[in-house]
Amino acid sequence: MLDAATTAQLKTYLANLRTPVELVATLDDSPKSAEMRTLVEAVAEQSHLLTARFDGHADRVPSFAIRRADGTAETHFAGLPLGHEFTSLVLALLHMGGHPPKEEAELLDSVKALEGDFRFETFFSLSCQNCPDVIQAINIMAALNPSVSNVAIDGAMFREEVETRKVMAVPAIYLNGEPFGQGRMDLAQIMAKLDTGTVASAAEKIAAKEPFEVLVVGGGPAGAAAAIYAARKGIRTGVVAERFGGQVLDTMGIENFISIQHTEGPKLAFPAKKNIATRAWHIARIAMVHYTRVSAPPSSAVATPALKRPSTLQALFPTSRSSSLTRNCARMRCCKTNCAACPMSTSSRRH
Ligand SMILES: Cc1cc2nc3c(=O)[nH]c(=O)nc-3n(C[C@H](O)[C@H](O)[C@H](O)COP(=O)(O)OP(=O)(O)OC[C@H]3O[C@@H](n4cnc5c(N)ncnc54)[C@H](O)[C@@H]3O)c2cc1C
Repeated sequence: MLDAATTAQLKTYLANLRTPVELVATLDDSPKSAEMRTLVEAVAEQSHLLTARFDGHADRVPSFAIRRADGTAETHFAGLPLGHEFTSLVLALLHMGGHPPKEEAELLDSVKALEGDFRFETFFSLSCQNCPDVIQAINIMAALNPSVSNVAIDGAMFREEVETRKVMAVPAIYLNGEPFGQGRMDLAQIMAKLDTGTVASAAEKIAAKEPFEVLVVGGGPAGAAAAIYAARKGIRTGVVAERFGGQVLDTMGIENFISIQHTEGPKLAFPAKKNIATRAWHIARIAMVHYTRVSAPPSSAVATPALKRPSTLQALFPTSRSSSLTRNCARMRCCKTNCAACPMSTSSRRH
């Protein structure tokens, strides 16, 4: 089932496992179950920290759980996670086995702090390019917090369920039996949608920052270009984006970018984020603000006490331009005036 090159690669990745992990399969005597047994056995052979069992009692057959051996976390695949989902399988094994996920520490902390019961079901298809992001994000949550579980369901294998639940497109995410989301979502978006205080804590963090002179709403190509350009001019710039990268993340084929014959959306978007976040010249001026949806409150809610607190926008942009200009000159150890030597001065800005 796995060719020699894939097996060798898998073995290399699984060397990063830190704690024992069990693969617990629920099978019957169908050909699909036989394929799943072969896959589970092949995977388990690649690390001494993995064991395979075939005595599961899951509702969906065939399926298998990836379970931390101490029983503190698990996630399920109902269907064969091959094709685009093979990476999801490898990452689920690694994260269940204690390898740290590559996400911002603060976001991971809020996942760990989630309280409640979060039973996700995620429908995918093996040809879906947007599905792995969603499945991987929810599997990270399941690996970090025992109150989160996930079943990634291959719609092609569980057609009856797809029809009964009227799943029209993948990825389709259900939470505790109810529709939760559709389409590509990253971990930050899922956390924001759970409304667990992530937005409020992001707003508090931003409120503690120096005020911005320019606030760019949106982190797609337009927002990223505007932010980089403004920052280059010496303007203290903030970016508020629900999803950094915008629609570009949703496409795998871009062929009208004049300097490149062909590229893929994520490949184009991720360096843009890095460009903004890591170039020293920009670093003091751009705040990457994720998981924040800025929307007008419903008119009926305007007078409610909750809205009397400073809004996210007020937190980001609390003062007038002139007062923030003098304050931001602190970088030059001056000055209280907008003089020509100051990087904030119009006459010294780069073009
Ligand atoms: C499947 C697909 C394929 C495509 N293929 C191509 C192609 O090959 N070539 C091409 O030139 N174009 C292509 N496009 C179009 C291209 O992606 C868009 O034109 C481009 O992304 C628009 O950039 P934008 O920055 O204006 O907006 P968007 O990319 O839509 O970015 C909007 C940003 O604003 C944020 N945002 C929105 N509302 C809020 C809110 N209330 N609060 C906080 N943040 C918010 C979003 O999170 C996002 O960061 C494609 C689009 C799709 C969907």
